[in-house]
Amino acid sequence: MSGMNEIEKEWARNRIVRAEIDKYLNADGSDYVRDDRILELLQDTSEPDPAQVRAIIQKALSIQTLTQEELAVLIRVKDPGLWDEMKAAAGKIKHIVYDNRIVTFAPLYLANKCVNNCVYCGFRESNSQQQRRVLTQDEVRREAEAMAGQLGHKRLIVVYGEHPESGVDYIAETIRTVYSVKVKTRRGTGQIRRVNVNAAPMPVAELKVLHEVGLGTFQVFQETYDRRMYAKLHPANTVKGDFRWRLYAMHRAQEAGIDDNGLGVLYGLSDWRYELLAQQDHVLEMERFCGIGPHTLSFPRLEPAINTPWLERNDRKVNDDDFEKIVVLARLAVPYSGLIITARESPEMRRRLLPLGVTQMDASSNVGVGAYSEGRQEEQKSERQQFILGDPRPLDVVIREWASMGSITSFCTAGYRCGRTGACIMKLLRTGEEGKFCKLNAVLTFKEWLDDFASPETQAVGEALIKKELAEIEAKQPKIWPEFKRDYDRIAAGERDIYF
Ligand code: SAM
Ligand code: SF4
Repeated sequence: MSGMNEIEKEWARNRIVRAEIDKYLNADGSDYVRDDRILELLQDTSEPDPAQVRAIIQKALSIQTLTQEELAVLIRVKDPGLWDEMKAAAGKIKHIVYDNRIVTFAPLYLANKCVNNCVYCGFRESNSQQQRRVLTQDEVRREAEAMAGQLGHKRLIVVYGEHPESGVDYIAETIRTVYSVKVKTRRGTGQIRRVNVNAAPMPVAELKVLHEVGLGTFQVFQETYDRRMYAKLHPANTVKGDFRWRLYAMHRAQEAGIDDNGLGVLYGLSDWRYELLAQQDHVLEMERFCGIGPHTLSFPRLEPAINTPWLERNDRKVNDDDFEKIVVLARLAVPYSGLIITARESPEMRRRLLPLGVTQMDASSNVGVGAYSEGRQEEQKSERQQFILGDPRPLDVVIREWASMGSITSFCTAGYRCGRTGACIMKLLRTGEEGKFCKLNAVLTFKEWLDDFASPETQAVGEALIKKELAEIEAKQPKIWPEFKRDYDRIAAGERDIYF
């Protein structure tokens, strides 16, 4: 904590509430990541019996969470034919649970001061080449206006470093500010309707503040579940150095009433097979403790960052073929969770992963603080951003590509605003019921976006897809069709924010 002032040091010293770790531990003082068991499972590298693999695939297709042992069997598969079957099943699961929808969002970086020193991150405290900013509420408003008014986003993930100037009160205020923005668009009005948060773990009392202000999903990535590696990458004298404070972040969120929670591994820090098995321990622990598993799983993969030499020395990088396997295995292991692939990945990689079960992707993203309102979407300013993006293409181009691949972009945020969160949404997802509401809302929000923001080329591709979707809804959901068609026509006439 060398470069920090006394206020920062004092704040960092008091972040962790030890009792809010200890209360969740097992009776013998251990936590839920069973390292010995994972290492034992990884020792077996034999090719599994195809009949056993197919039985596990069938279990995943019935939208049941796999056990750690079952996931370990799938990890051992080498036969290309069986891998093809697993990939096909991953796409099918996505279709059963989420249909052909792809939800889109954008990250909004609001503050990049940080008291931690994660060796791989451009925002780390010791990185003297990083330009630091904590946006004022006026600046936050301008960012939200640019995102809702020019780009047409409805859903954001707001991102913060861990720092006293961006503590819980600041986070809550910025969420309020984002929700308050309303801007005129071509045919209607634009507004951010769901604010998800990616921030450091917090105590229950602070998480309650975020719950009250109406956050969507609360994301905390464990980075690595390999505690030996975790200790090497996150200095012990920092807040983030406490592995278990992070491990129980979602237990505390659940206690604070936040029931849409997102997990993630930062791929490239340790053996990805270990990470997947340990993450499955986390998923199963959440199902036990919270009654529901993660709302989303994220797959950040290490990207270069300014003045971060550790990234060049790192030899654990995950190659594209293994990354594809990771996504397929996660899709099968946790069939109900949303899977998020960010613009860290290249356009080619995102095209490759889309049919394998991905449910959410960002676009028009910028990971620089204050970048949207300054019109720097394409010119990436690396000295103010956390890492360098792989897919900087505009939302219009990306949406056109998804539509031409048969996927409808959904800007829907109705679920959580109608109380379809937590255990309720899990049940709807597992039974395929949520898909019915979601298809309707996807079409309505896609139409809104096309009319308000699309280029003529994208509008043409999008309208053709909508035509197909309308015919399908009329045929498959005849009871709801008249009401739905009425709402669709209201949207087409310029009304906004109508949902099921
Ligand atoms: N500071 C908070 C924390 O660490 O939990 C939240 C914000 S942090 C900016 C969001 C995530 O960015 C981290 O959890 C990590 O997984 C990811 N990240 C950090 N450095 C990265 C890099 N070089 N490439 C890709 N992702 C990175
Ligand atoms: Fe700070 Fe998060 Fe970056 Fe670590 S990953 S240095 S905690 S912003």
